[in-house]
Amino acid sequence: MRCDCHMHMVLDGVDWKSAIRRHSEQIDEGWIRQVLETYRRLGFAYLRDGGDRWGVGKRARELSEEYGITYRTPLAPLCQAGHYGGFIGKKYENLREYAHLVEQAREDGADFIKIMISGLMDFDRFGVLTEEGLEPETIFELIHIAHEEGFAVMAHANGARTVETAARAGVDSVEHGAYLDGEALAAMVENGTVWVPTLSTIGNLRGKGRFEEQAVERILESAMENVRLFADMGGLLAPGTDAGAWAVPHGSLTEFALLEQTLGQNADAVLEKGTRRIQEKFSCGSCLR
Ligand SMILES: [Zn+2]
Repeated sequence: MRCDCHMHMVLDGVDWKSAIRRHSEQIDEGWIRQVLETYRRLGFAYLRDGGDRWGVGKRARELSEEYGITYRTPLAPLCQAGHYGGFIGKKYENLREYAHLVEQAREDGADFIKIMISGLMDFDRFGVLTEEGLEPETIFELIHIAHEEGFAVMAHANGARTVETAARAGVDSVEHGAYLDGEALAAMVENGTVWVPTLSTIGNLRGKGRFEEQAVERILESAMENVRLFADMGGLLAPGTDAGAWAVPHGSLTEFALLEQTLGQNADAVLEKGTRRIQEKFSCGSCLR
């Protein structure tokens, strides 16, 4: 049985704009069924969606039982206006608006809260993010508000200081987590944060000719090295393909191969622990109350 702790039903791994257009007028249920069937056929029993504001993940959750899949979704991810994430999430201007969106997520039946607190890797330049993280005080408040409402928090976060801050604020899972250092890793271990490193979003870029090959190799190597260190420190890791991201089609199994390559024979035991933690924490918010 496989679990994917980070995927995007609304996206297709090819072109995010046309993928979203497929559902923007009316949700394309045929697409959702085809994707769920792909996962079922490959033996997936658990999917955790990164969210979308068109309700595609929500519809997938309704249909997932027919495919023998447990499906969790934050509904729309929440992002600060003017920062990364606006293409797929709901935007807030300030913490009051954010708190209102969290309340609304509860009413609408979100399983957890997904926040975007940094930019992406610049795949052409090692060590560079498209945007630094939000202010530490803001990160603390975002996580605190969601926890107060009884939700677990999944955070899209890159960069050592952003991840360290999120871990110290008690974030439940960190997604991507590029360019971490010893302090960020230690903060995640101490907090029991599950790290979902989404290595396939980097690994699947190899040989595609879209980005600087050397930069891609270096980014991947540094991520794998941190994953290895984190596992040695006793950190919790879970597999998340980020399927739907560019060059990561639904059903891509690269993530599992890369994690196995990184963790060696411990891979199964390590990943099982982290996956179990995700499954326990990221159920519906109301169950946690
Ligand atoms: Zn994602």
